[in-house]
Amino acid sequence: MHCPFCTAVDTKVVDSRLVAEGQQVRRRRECNSCHERYTTYETAELLMPRLIKSDGSSQPFDEQKLRAGILRALEKRPVGVEQIEALINRIKLFIRSTGEREVPARMLGETVMAELRKLDQVAFVRFASVYRSFEDINEFKEEIDKLAVDASQVSQITES
Ligand SMILES: [Zn+2]
Repeated sequence: MHCPFCTAVDTKVVDSRLVAEGQQVRRRRECNSCHERYTTYETAELLMPRLIKSDGSSQPFDEQKLRAGILRALEKRPVGVEQIEALINRIKLFIRSTGEREVPARMLGETVMAELRKLDQVAFVRFASVYRSFEDINEFKEEIDKLAVDASQVSQITES
């Protein structure tokens, strides 16, 4: 690819390694003209099933939208970029493993919640509160109680 700093065509790879549980290749590149360094990530593009919403309409799987929702839930949480990428990859693998061309959108939402629950409970509650749009405050409280989170975590949830 062209250098993003000076648009020179000739760049070289100075380092290359597997990340996100082997689902991505991270490359450090250096421009031969301006000698700036930058990083690229390479992932296989796999065909994802379409998502069927509860009203019966369908929409394409949107990885950017998925990532945005997960990043919002994980804002200021102690979770690294590579953990997030691995999480997104696990979710995609799971959805693809159904072998279906269309899956309920709900399945994606539930999968994200299950993965977030294992990774970070605060992020899980944040995501669940948006995704499920809890019917009433008691339902939300029950969910938090189930998690047995400590007081500092609860304050972080309610502040957001
Ligand atoms: Zn350059």
